[in-house]
Amino acid sequence: MSDIADRAGWRIEKDIQNARAYVRKQAILESDGRCHFCDELIAHALQFCNVDCRDDYEKQQAALQRAGRRVD
Ligand SMILES: [Zn+2]
Repeated sequence: MSDIADRAGWRIEKDIQNARAYVRKQAILESDGRCHFCDELIAHALQFCNVDCRDDYEKQQAALQRAGRRVD
């Protein structure tokens, strides 16, 4: 019985963490007319000049987080 409750609690906690991470990511990635990875001028609604930059940026962020450094 408590096992199910424990799992539900864990699930809720996880959802909250994911939501917070998502909001934080959105806040960081405000589009400012430049690619977030290579600083190329791009259309204002965009965050990266192409998918390679997006992928490289995400890899870089993941690597930084693995190294225990906060990016923001
Ligand atoms: Zn770029």
